[in-house]
Amino acid sequence: MSFNRLDQLRKLNESFDICIIGGGATGAGVALDATLRGYKVLLIEKGDFASQTSSKSTKLVHGGVRYLEQAVRNLDWHQFKMVYKALHERKTLLQNAPHLAHPLGLLTPCYTRWERWYYRIGMWLYDKISGSTNLKSSRGLSKKEIQTEFPSIESHHLRGGVLYYDGQLNDARYALAILKEAERLGACVLNYARLDSFELGPKSLKIKKVLFTDLRSEASYTIPVKAVVNATGPFTDSVRVLANPRLKPRMKVSRGAHIVLPTEFWQGDTALLIPKTDDGRVIFVIPWRGSVLVGTTDDPDTLSENPVILEAEKEYLITYFNRYSAKKASLTDISATFVGQRPLLQVQLDSAMNTDTKSLVRDHEVEVDGRSKLVSIMGGKWTTYRVMASDTLDVLEKEVLHVSASPCLTKDHSLIPLASVELPLGVAEDIVAHLEELYGPAAGEVYAFGSERLLPSEPYLSGELIYLKQHEMAETWDDVLARRWGVSLRDEVLAEKLRATKKEAFAS
Ligand SMILES: Cc1cc2nc3c(=O)[nH]c(=O)nc-3n(C[C@H](O)[C@H](O)[C@H](O)COP(=O)(O)OP(=O)(O)OC[C@H]3O[C@@H](n4cnc5c(N)ncnc54)[C@H](O)[C@@H]3O)c2cc1C
Repeated sequence: MSFNRLDQLRKLNESFDICIIGGGATGAGVALDATLRGYKVLLIEKGDFASQTSSKSTKLVHGGVRYLEQAVRNLDWHQFKMVYKALHERKTLLQNAPHLAHPLGLLTPCYTRWERWYYRIGMWLYDKISGSTNLKSSRGLSKKEIQTEFPSIESHHLRGGVLYYDGQLNDARYALAILKEAERLGACVLNYARLDSFELGPKSLKIKKVLFTDLRSEASYTIPVKAVVNATGPFTDSVRVLANPRLKPRMKVSRGAHIVLPTEFWQGDTALLIPKTDDGRVIFVIPWRGSVLVGTTDDPDTLSENPVILEAEKEYLITYFNRYSAKKASLTDISATFVGQRPLLQVQLDSAMNTDTKSLVRDHEVEVDGRSKLVSIMGGKWTTYRVMASDTLDVLEKEVLHVSASPCLTKDHSLIPLASVELPLGVAEDIVAHLEELYGPAAGEVYAFGSERLLPSEPYLSGELIYLKQHEMAETWDDVLARRWGVSLRDEVLAEKLRATKKEAFAS
């Protein structure tokens, strides 16, 4: 069996222990953890894998400098523990898939002597909390050092800065790597499969079967399962009420917009953390796969499958970019935009309805509905997907399957694909870099599908399209451009040119 839709559809004849709804970071993590614990797993995702929040993040593997500041200022032990947990996950995430995640230096500019001390101590604390899992020690920098080492930053009025380290990941491909590994170990993993309803037991009202539609063929399926995990991120409440209409909403959605600029606007491989905007946010300027990512915002929003950036958000982000960048950009320089919706958890059910989303804690919670036994994993962030999965399965084993907890085996579980074919000698450098960045050791296998370039000056290959269809379950051009390659999130014009080369290869 391979990571191919037809193979997955054939597996639907098997019996399953756990059905996971949602194929973003959270669902993927639960699928791998459950498979490694020995369960027969079915995962269904209504769109493409990671097509919602999990491919529209700021792509940081981080504890959250801002959350640490909030924890210290408010003496909030809960928030502090959350930062601790995320900081300790960073290294694991980077180690398990080094082809998809790596350390990233971030510079915090300081404009007063007080700020230099404040951020130096803050970053020192950030390092200390990471302990042995710290990626690299932070250091203070003088104005002169910044001007020499980081010429992209606007140095007027600058007093110095602090350089610290977090991680950066290819979020969509990371989710895919987790799902591919779960599938290789026996899980059945299906995209374009939408949960429609549950069949409940006549007396207990416990979930007995999941009913879903394969959106590619419109075929309906009814599959008996022992337990169901709801890992639908911002959509969590819509699945909770399918299991038990009496459940009150728990999720609050917050939108985060990003703009992308060409690389000439921010040279080098160090990011910038703008620690405080006039309205109390943090904004990052991040070198990202040959482009510059600027984001993000944090505003209450209504749930949507395809949130689109507002003109005001573009202007807001460009204004802040220009305040801190030596090279100024205008709205017409923006090469792409994307908006994600954060699945934030309301701690208090009623009063938090009006809460400002910036102050909502990014922690997670596992809920078991006492009646249907639906297990919902809510909140959290990309960085902690593995811990979220482990917590979910511990609760599920105890409260739904009533078995003693089996060990979580994901911590040291590598997501590096096994290399079966070497890249031949003499392949153009840009193609090697492109294939290794996306597929790691599987680059040679992908190249074997065909070496013809789709566009003369770009490394994207026609053979990749066959590989992506047959071995990565890409069904549409958007699956390829937005998530398998990530190109439409960086350069919309290039994405359209690539689509035009072989329109017929995929549905649009
Ligand atoms: C703007 C922004 C920036 C962020 N930046 C970072 C960051 O830098 N670092 C970090 O650690 N975290 C970050 N996060 C948080 C992180 O991205 C999210 O916590 C994480 O991606 C959520 O993953 P998820 O799987 O829970 O949700 P999702 O990725 O949204 O996945 C849920 C899936 O469920 C599917 N689904 C819904 N209903 C059904 C149904 N009926 N049947 C089948 N499938 C269904 C959806 O299609 C969706 O794909 C950011 C979030 C946002 C919005």
